Amino acid sequence: MSTDPSPRESESRAHMRTRMIHGLARSRHWEYAHHIVPPVSSSAAFRLDSVERGAQGFLDFAHDTVDAHDLIYIYDRLDEPTRGMLEENLASAEGGDRALCFSSGMAAISAVIHGLLRAGDELVTHHVLYGCTYSLFVNWLPRAGIRVVFEDLTDLEALQRQITSRTRAIYFETPVNPDLTLIDIEAIHDLAAAANKGRSPTECVRIVVDNTFATPYCQRPLEHGADIVCHSLTKGIGGFGTDVGGAAVVPNSFFNPLLLYRKDYGGILSPKAAWATLVYGLPSLATRMVNYQKGAHHVARFLAQHPKVEKVLYPGIDSFPQFALAKKQMHDPKGMFAPGSMLYFVLKDASPDGRHGREFIDYVAKNAYSITLAVSLGQIKTLIECPYSMTHATMPPEEKARHGVDPGGIRLSCGLEDWEDIVADLDAALKAV
Ligand SMILES: *Cc1c(COP(=O)(O)O)cnc(C)c1O
Repeated sequence: MSTDPSPRESESRAHMRTRMIHGLARSRHWEYAHHIVPPVSSSAAFRLDSVERGAQGFLDFAHDTVDAHDLIYIYDRLDEPTRGMLEENLASAEGGDRALCFSSGMAAISAVIHGLLRAGDELVTHHVLYGCTYSLFVNWLPRAGIRVVFEDLTDLEALQRQITSRTRAIYFETPVNPDLTLIDIEAIHDLAAAANKGRSPTECVRIVVDNTFATPYCQRPLEHGADIVCHSLTKGIGGFGTDVGGAAVVPNSFFNPLLLYRKDYGGILSPKAAWATLVYGLPSLATRMVNYQKGAHHVARFLAQHPKVEKVLYPGIDSFPQFALAKKQMHDPKGMFAPGSMLYFVLKDASPDGRHGREFIDYVAKNAYSITLAVSLGQIKTLIECPYSMTHATMPPEEKARHGVDPGGIRLSCGLEDWEDIVADLDAALKAV
């Protein structure tokens, strides 16, 4: 079996969909010239020919001295082939230098934050975040001596006022989970770049974007000036809801520190979970997303004209308050507008506790065939949930009320069913409430 590790000429001109399907034709992580499907490696430790080679492997680890020879595998928690191949393909999909995969999205986010910040540093973040990220920032970072400042990141002047000499990172999701607010990555990049003038590299403000909602098919934050991208692989990239995982796409300069962090804190993605994402999730992302979006468009248009619906937020329709920003920031790798698969809507409801919304979701849970009440998103099945009382339960009610997370707000992740069936199930539930 001979493999030439240099990429083929034809690979360099391939488009992103093709790359996400084929990966690196000649991965240095594993030679598998006779397989079409990358094999799942399942080995906690690896055979070493000599103590000298083992010593070389430890020397190479996190020191990027491997280029002169083949990778030396030692132990799964350091590096292993299946996860390594997924990491190469994720870095390529996001247009970044390197990727590292973690046991969950939260493991990736917490690793990035703790890798970047230390006691005395400050993090500025948007006031609405995925519930567990919010909980991480409120419950755990202060214990580590990291000050977390919540701000409305759509207000650049307000953000500007929060940047101090101790600020080391600006963290946000765009679109924001769950209300789909968009944050202008390029504008935040310009602001951070101005703040970074005269700062040493260790003192710079880094921009970290959680790109879980959009996926790299709809938005590549690094192209707009972000420094680091985080993902829950459990969602759109994993795509089938079979495995939990996370990833961070980072510049070369942050790769070794984060690799060391992952080795020592231990939150690695298991090779079996990596294999599912490598073989099913990422290669099918483009095709799934194109079809999620078609469905989401029809669903958004249906909801927008329905008399019982107060508001529907989907970046793909022109009633979306930040439609211009959506068109600027969210596009597929060929430049076509790509507003994604997620919707948020609120019913007309006289009761301040959002009772109608919950009744609507309960009706769907009991009666709908094409829509499932569940958290998570980006799967082939359409999922519906109530963020206020479920995924965002950890945010205090006053904070939610102040920032547009409505008690009866409904989040919908469009799947691959025929859109007419999704609309029919929504229509029936709207008639019932
Ligand atoms: C789900 C989610 C996470 C956390 O990912 P896990 O894989 O569940 O740990 C982080 N950010 C966003 C936007 C999410 O939707």
